[in-house]
Parts: sequence; structure tokens; C-alpha cells
Amino acid sequence: MRWLIKLKDVTKRYGKITALDSVSLEVREKEILTVLGPNGSGKTTMLKIMASIDEPTSGEVFFDGEKVNNGNRGNVRKRSTMVFQKTTLFNTTVYKNVAYGLKLRGYSKEETDEKVKEALELVKLVGYENRHAKKLSGGEQQRVSLARALVLNTKLLLLDEPTANLDPKNVSIIEETISRVNRDFNTTIVMATHNMFQAETLTSRVAVLLGGKMGEIGMPREILRGPSIDLASFARLENVFSGSSKILREGTSIIEVDDGIEVEAAVRQSGKVTVFVRPEDIIVTKSRLFSSARNVFRGKIVEVSDFESVVRLRVDVGKEFVVQITKRSFVEMKLNVGSTVFLAFKASSVHLV
Ligand code: ADP
Ligand code: MG
Repeated sequence: MRWLIKLKDVTKRYGKITALDSVSLEVREKEILTVLGPNGSGKTTMLKIMASIDEPTSGEVFFDGEKVNNGNRGNVRKRSTMVFQKTTLFNTTVYKNVAYGLKLRGYSKEETDEKVKEALELVKLVGYENRHAKKLSGGEQQRVSLARALVLNTKLLLLDEPTANLDPKNVSIIEETISRVNRDFNTTIVMATHNMFQAETLTSRVAVLLGGKMGEIGMPREILRGPSIDLASFARLENVFSGSSKILREGTSIIEVDDGIEVEAAVRQSGKVTVFVRPEDIIVTKSRLFSSARNVFRGKIVEVSDFESVVRLRVDVGKEFVVQITKRSFVEMKLNVGSTVFLAFKASSVHLV
């Protein structure tokens, strides 16, 4: 299959920090490729380099058959669009926000009207043309910023965590838009996410990025379910904590993770350890319960991912935990982004990596 963009041994340093470490990757024409990795793994840096917004410290980038260099970078930049994680809309109407890029490119009023309408239809915001963009909800603003990118109809679309911190309704509209654009316009899409389940439902291939290094690349099923991936490496993206451990008299250990978080584990080990907790082993309640669980934290829901029968929540308790509950519990507890919840898990649910 033909590739549209190729990175070859791309390294990006910011001073002493190596954000990308000799990354090689080919993005095939017309695919949706997910770059899956935890915070700080280099996803945004990689997308910016693919968009030619940023240059690698070393290594090569090829776009549609040509090597990107100082002579053609401007041209290459026009053939891709990046939607940033933090939306920065202009302080004006939805229409003007979406039409902006077309105006720069010299489209007529009629053409602009038509293209803006098409893009707003895709993100389900027809009728919002004259609304003030900055007064919309976070999810609606994210959809405007997606429309602003779609209207340009570039070959390559780069999406940086497009659904992070959004509620399920906006997440599903955005996911639907992504797959429609890919299917109907053959747009090649690279999407960064830390949500491994999104990778599974939406994309043709997944590339795992960890600490700036490219890990496995393959079909979502192979990467996320394959026998080569043991539980620890599957879980390494979520609920994995490192810290310094002290053995208690009771025979368990207290692990001091940074940000003042302490986790009690039914293991006897001192010194530096890495542990993980499975999302389904964490109990979510709306008030503090008296229970045998040794670990109880209070936090706020920052992200909701909706699946057929289960819902995954990202909860910030000072550190972010991912928990999984049934859809039914989610509805009965009337939870949403911003809700305060308590998380509880047993010391025996904390596993050493
Ligand atoms: P991700 O998007 O996966 O969270 P980033 O690409 O934003 O990761 O960052 C990768 C690493 O590079 C992080 O350690 C981050 O702090 C660092 N980094 C990113 N951009 C800059 C910058 N402009 N200056 C200094 N360090 C940066
Ligand atoms: Mg990022």
C-alpha cells in the first residue's frame, strides 16, 4: 500500500529533553492511524512534525513521495491540517471561524458558504452559524475547530486527542465525523489518543508511543489483545505508578507515588517499584464508604468514554486513574464529566509490574 507520510529515524530534542527518540513510521494513504501513548510520550511533538509545523532535530520526513526540506516545507504544510488538543477559536461567530481558512485561500462567497455548510453538517452544528464561538460548550467548540479543519479538505488530517475531556455525546459525534471523513473523502487521518479503547473502535492501525520511542505497530486487535502483550504491558498505559515503597508491620507496603498520593499494596517490597491497578478492580461511589478497601481517593471525573455495556472514566485524584463501570451504574449514579467520586480498591488489587 502507498504511504502518504513517512518518518525516518526522527529525533526531536528540547534542550535536554528527548521528546522523540529515533522514530520511524509510515502512514498509509487513506488509513486512520492511532498514535497511542500516555501523557508526555511525544504524541503532540510527532503530530507537529508530521504537519511540518515543527522540524526534527535529526532524521527525515517524507510527504507524498518527496522529502520535506526548507524549500518545500511551506507547501507541504498546506496539504495537511492539525487540530490541536486545546481549541483556540477566534473571538467571533461560528461561521467566520470555519470560513477563515477559505478566505485566506481566496474562495468566493458562494463557494465558502457551501463548504462551511458541508463542514457544519459533518459536525452536526448546522444552525450555529451566527452563534458566538467562544460562548459554546467545550464539546461544541471542539466540533467547530474540527469543522475549521475539515473545510480545507486536505489530504492529511492530524487530530491531537480530539475527544479528551469531553462528554459521551460530543465524543460520539466527533468519532462519527472522523470515520465519515475518512470513508467519504478518503482523508488520511492520524489521531493521537491516550484512550486505548478509542484506538480499537475507530482505527485501522495503532502505533504505540512510549517515552518518545515507537513501540508495536499493528491492527488494534493485535496490539491490544494479542498474546504477545502481557497484562503488565497492556496496562502500562493506564493506572501504572512508580514510587518508593516501604514495608509496613502488617506485611503490606506503602508506595509513595508523587503528588502526595500513597497506595497500599499487598506485597512486601521496599525501594523503587512500579505497580498497576486494573480499571475494573476499582470501585466507584458517590460518597465515602466504610469498607475493607485499603485505598480510597476522592477525585473528579475528567473524561468519560462510552462503550456498549461499560463506561470508562478517567478520574483525577491528584493522579489520574482509569476506572471501568457498567453503563447501568453510570446512568443510575448520574455521573458525568466534573462529578466528584470516590475510588476504592484493595491492597491485593495492586500488582507489581
Ligand atoms: P504528549 O503529547 O504525548 O503528551 P508531548 O509531545 O507534548 O507529549 O511531549 C513530549 C515531551 O517533550 C514531554 O516531556 C514534554 O514536556 C516535552 N516537550 C514538548 N514540547 C516542548 C517544548 N516546546 N519545550 C520543552 N519541552 C517540550
Ligand atoms: Mg499531547
